[in-house]
Amino acid sequence: MTDQRIYNFNAGPAALPLPVLEEIQASFLNFKNSGMSITEISHRSSYFDEVINDAVERAKRLLNLDDRFDVLFVQGGASLQFAMIPMNLLSQDESADYINTGTWSTKAIKEAQNLGKTVHVVASSEDKSFSYIPKDITFNTGSKFVHLTSNNTIKGTQFYEFPDTKGIPIIADMSSDIFSRPLPMEKFGLIYAGAQKNLGPSGTCMVIIRKDLVDSANENLPTMLKYATYASKNSMYNTPPCFGIYTIDLVLKWIEEEMGGIEKMEEHNIKKADILYDFIDTSSFYQTTAEKYSRSLMNVTFRLPSEDFERNFVERATQHGLGGLKGHRSVGGCRASIYNAATMESMYALVEFMESFEKENK
Ligand SMILES: *Cc1c(COP(=O)(O)O)cnc(C)c1O
Repeated sequence: MTDQRIYNFNAGPAALPLPVLEEIQASFLNFKNSGMSITEISHRSSYFDEVINDAVERAKRLLNLDDRFDVLFVQGGASLQFAMIPMNLLSQDESADYINTGTWSTKAIKEAQNLGKTVHVVASSEDKSFSYIPKDITFNTGSKFVHLTSNNTIKGTQFYEFPDTKGIPIIADMSSDIFSRPLPMEKFGLIYAGAQKNLGPSGTCMVIIRKDLVDSANENLPTMLKYATYASKNSMYNTPPCFGIYTIDLVLKWIEEEMGGIEKMEEHNIKKADILYDFIDTSSFYQTTAEKYSRSLMNVTFRLPSEDFERNFVERATQHGLGGLKGHRSVGGCRASIYNAATMESMYALVEFMESFEKENK
């Protein structure tokens, strides 16, 4: 227990930028002199219109999206997208290529298969327990799309470059690295991200989708499962997750106005990750689990010499105000999630703690 804010390395829900939390707190009881909280305002009001439009515009500016793209907010997390994508975009006589780089990709593949869709797993890193990003992949020319997970939150690997799919649109689960770097948007047909890693609170998923994919999507679906429903109503066919969208807007504003935009955000993220990886690489006590050229800038996964050390490490770190360092329950080990909101200060604090823990225990 503590009355201080800790250095928060949680994987998701994860740390948000402090200035964003402070702004929420300051305007929580009276949003823009409306006399109401953002959680009490009608989503049909001009107050909320401004919020959602601002969030969409900021997302478009940050990623350099032209008018071919829609930015949507959908509930159900990234996990619902595993199903919505094949439901909307893949008919029974079409097929799609999937790259399997870990738990989330595996789930995306399963969902498509459960719907009876034809899925080709064109590459997988399962042979080495998902510790690397496959290269030199051959895609099926007739495929409707190529699905990949850009950052593997659990295994700590990340695509640095997106594969050349010869014009087949890439669909990417960017839940844990959206807005962490500029993107070659000409390669993408759809990008989705559960908000709770790098964008805001849980409860909303951002979907960036090319309009021609919305237009050509399957129409025989329940209203709430069709992209067209969201695209035609500015994500407000029904009541949207207002508080989540509001927070996302503030996070995007923070990236634009305080961090200096997406290129600067990327530089900052590289610097942060380098601090940690450089330290781990010089240590014989800690070891990263991902192959060097696939290591994530967002989730740094590492092991200590034994599980006892790991348990003790996580416990002692918590006592020192460093939280969330336990690895995902499916893989064990340790993990520092260092999304956009993680500060340089938190990186130094973590390395300092790791150094002293090593000295004490070696
Ligand atoms: C966390 C995560 C998910 C699951 O997100 P939900 O919003 O909980 O459905 C999917 N993909 C990736 C890459 C994730 O990190």
